[in-house]
Amino acid sequence: MSRQTQAIIHADAVLQNFRTLSSMAKHSQSMAVIKADAYGHGAINVARILQHVSPRFAVAIIEEAVALREAGITVPIVVLEGAHQAKECAMAAQYDCILVMHSYEQLQWMQKCEVSKRPHIWLKVDSGMHRLGFSTDDIEEVVAQNQSLLTNETTLVTHFASADNPDNDFTATQIAAFETKVASLSLPVSLANSPASVNWPQSQAQWNRLGLGVYGGQVSTQSIISSAVQLFPAMTLRSSVIALRDIAEGEGVGYGQTWRAQKPSKIATVGIGYADGYPRHCPNGTPVMIRGQRASLVGRVSMDMITIDVTHINNVTTGDTVELWGENISISEVASCAGTIDYELMTRVSSRVPRIVR
Ligand code: PLP
Repeated sequence: MSRQTQAIIHADAVLQNFRTLSSMAKHSQSMAVIKADAYGHGAINVARILQHVSPRFAVAIIEEAVALREAGITVPIVVLEGAHQAKECAMAAQYDCILVMHSYEQLQWMQKCEVSKRPHIWLKVDSGMHRLGFSTDDIEEVVAQNQSLLTNETTLVTHFASADNPDNDFTATQIAAFETKVASLSLPVSLANSPASVNWPQSQAQWNRLGLGVYGGQVSTQSIISSAVQLFPAMTLRSSVIALRDIAEGEGVGYGQTWRAQKPSKIATVGIGYADGYPRHCPNGTPVMIRGQRASLVGRVSMDMITIDVTHINNVTTGDTVELWGENISISEVASCAGTIDYELMTRVSSRVPRIVR
């Protein structure tokens, strides 16, 4: 039997989620963030789905932008980490990319770049996350000293540390720190990611950068907020039963025998493992869906397979489809079982899992 492990990418969900989030931001433009292979959904797939509604795309590194251009995507692309080497400045112009510059070194590379070969730039401001960017105290001077590099595209951008949590006031602190220092600079600004666009509407400015929400991930720690914004899972990760066996009470299953049957049990072996991106940290009891019912992971996740307890489900046979996450089992639930976040699960689905766009 051939392997039925696939990630189904729901094009209508991607489009609808983008429209839902961008329509909430009436005075902003929104761009889809499609870095890390569109959070595992396939950057070219997602770019094709959104190219007529997202006036910019954002990626992390220039190689991701080049791959999109080679696939025929023409939408201008913002490269969030800017250039890592001087030669990438000219490369960005050649590929119609906008570089987010976060360091003095990068600006020096730009100054040395032939004027006709300079790309548009955005400037990153560190409003409190302390990862990348010019400090809020320095940004006025950076703008003053680099006027020759600025164009009508140039936008001041910052990123939030905790925007998914509407109770965490640090986002308000970041907004205030940013606005106080950039207000006089009369340049467009970009603050909100998808959690901020939902939890902190006051952060919506000229550009919103929407990632997780486009893929149907959980954008708010407050369930009342996340359920009010109707977002649909963009990926269903599924596999199939490759073997079945009955085991007696007391028998152990899998590596280390970390689960033992409390009663005579039926165990289905499913053809997906951690080499496909299903997290090895999922414990006993992590839910999966089979024949319209929830079943539990039992035993350790192996490289190429998992085992589930289907004792309570009638007529399970080899070849039955098993959903690991998607329409029926939320990726957030699996992420929380594995002690991680939606982002990590999405981006870790490995290249041996075909993405099927529906
Ligand atoms: N902007 C920047 C700079 C990012 O690094 C990211 C993602 O990590 C995003 C926007 C999109 O954020 P989200 O996926 O939370 O919407």
